[in-house]
Amino acid sequence: MSAPAILLEVEDLHTSFGIKGRRTPAVRGVSFMIREGEALGLIGESGSGKTVTGLSLLRLLPEHAHMDATVLNYRGRDVLGMSDEAFRAIRGVDLAMIFQDPVGSFNPAKRIGWHLEQAILRRGDTQDWHAEAEAILADVGIRAPERVLGSYPHQLSGGMLQRALLAMIIALRPSLIIADEPTTNLDNLVERQILELIRTHQRKLGASVLFITHDLAIAGEICDRIAVMYAGQIIEIGPTREVLERPKHPYAAGLLATSASLDRGDAELHELPGEPGGAIPVRGCAFAPRCAQAMAACSERSPPLVVVGPDHLARCLLHEH
Ligand code: SF4
Repeated sequence: MSAPAILLEVEDLHTSFGIKGRRTPAVRGVSFMIREGEALGLIGESGSGKTVTGLSLLRLLPEHAHMDATVLNYRGRDVLGMSDEAFRAIRGVDLAMIFQDPVGSFNPAKRIGWHLEQAILRRGDTQDWHAEAEAILADVGIRAPERVLGSYPHQLSGGMLQRALLAMIIALRPSLIIADEPTTNLDNLVERQILELIRTHQRKLGASVLFITHDLAIAGEICDRIAVMYAGQIIEIGPTREVLERPKHPYAAGLLATSASLDRGDAELHELPGEPGGAIPVRGCAFAPRCAQAMAACSERSPPLVVVGPDHLARCLLHEH
C-alpha cells in the first residue's frame, strides 16, 4: 500500500522578532512534513519555538516578526508566495488552529450559535445549520446544545468553550488542525475528554494534526510521529515509539526521564539541569550548557540532523558517524 500523500511540507523555516532594533531568532531552520491523516507532535519546553512554528504556518505572527522558508507547500501549492487574501481563503477552512485559551477564537459580542452558523454555512453545502450545530455539539459531549448555542463565550467554562471551539472546527472540516497546548488550563478529567475528542474527530474527518505540547505522555497517546524542539530547532524527529523508547538526543532523553518521574510521583523529581531560553550560541550546540554528555567539539561545531534509526533523525554529535 502506498503511503498517504504529503499534506504540508516545510523546509528551512526561519522566524525572528525585531526587538529593540535587533533581530532575535525564534525558529531556526525547521523542516518537516505531515502526511494526510497523520498526527505529528511538536514537543519542547516553553521558549523552544514550537508555538512560533505553528503561528508561522498560519501567518498569525505579530507585525514585528519576520518569517522565511525554502519550501512551504500545502497540498503541493506554494503558500509562501500567496497573497494574504488567497491565504486567508485557506486558513480557517482548510487549516484550523486550537489555542490554549479558546476565548480569543470567539467574538465576545456574538453567541456560540452565531459562530457555528458562520462555520457551517462557510462550507456552503448545507442549509439547516441549526440541526447540524446541535448534532455536532452533542457529538463533542455537550448535553444541552440549545443552551450552549444561545450562550455568549464568557458564559461558558474553559472546558465547555474548548468543546464549542472543537465543534466549530468539526463544522469546518479542515484538512489540518494545529492544536497548541489545547488542554493546559483544564482539569485532568476534562483534559482526557478533550484529547479523546480531538483524536476521535481527527480520525473521523481524516484530518492531519500538528499537536504542540510540552507533555510527552499526551503526545505519546495522540501522535504518530514526534518532533522535539530546542532553541528554535528540531533536535530529534521520528516515529512516536522510536522516539519515546529509544530517544537519541540527550535533551529528548532528559524530557522523557522528567515525564516518567512525574508519572511515577517520585519524591525526588528528575529535572533537566539549567533553564531553557538562554542566548543561542553563534557556534556549537545550543544544548551544550545543560548537557551532561557535552564534549569539547560541542561548543565548536553545530550538530547536523543525522539518521539514528528507521525514519528517525537526531541533532547530536554523539551520533555522527
Ligand atoms: Fe550534548 Fe554535544 Fe550532543 Fe549537544 S551535540 S546534545 S552538547 S553531546
